[in-house]
Amino acid sequence: MDHIRRVVIGLGSNVGDRLQNIARALELLRADEELHVTEVSPLYETSPEGGPAGQGDFVNGAVLVLTSVDATDLLHRLQRIEETLGRVRVEHHGPRTIDLDILWIEGETIHEPELVIPHAQLAARAFMLRPLLDVASDASDAESGVVFGELPLASAALKRA
Ligand code: AMP
Repeated sequence: MDHIRRVVIGLGSNVGDRLQNIARALELLRADEELHVTEVSPLYETSPEGGPAGQGDFVNGAVLVLTSVDATDLLHRLQRIEETLGRVRVEHHGPRTIDLDILWIEGETIHEPELVIPHAQLAARAFMLRPLLDVASDASDAESGVVFGELPLASAALKRA
């Protein structure tokens, strides 16, 4: 067990009833007694980036969670929620019922093959950065000191879902 710290989890869906999928993921996060969801960002509608052609637009958001569970344990909890909601990992970056990513853990950096914290794409993807800043406006990279709110994409305009 770690100490309690802030964690930001990104949510995305581009299959089926996207808002419903996000709502169900939120319910499952809230049902976990070791995760305390304290804030939910606005939801945004975004074009798919980097995946196969022809997939639908995403709805993206983020939640602020207070928790003492360690990063790997948290990743596994998120993967169980993805499985419960029927995500089928067919294609890398392909369509998904629900995608849950750990975007940031306060004071922590991780460089492991299966887990990179802060999320490797955070600075390059407005659909991760914007909702992260909505729920943790002061977030920074514990290693580099980069303040996420000062990144170029921090001011990118996203369409509200
Ligand atoms: P994807 O299918 O694109 O959601 O990628 C899932 C894989 O990314 C998982 O197997 C994780 O081990 C890995 N991964 C690396 N860093 C993270 C992170 N910060 N949050 C969630 N998954 C991550």
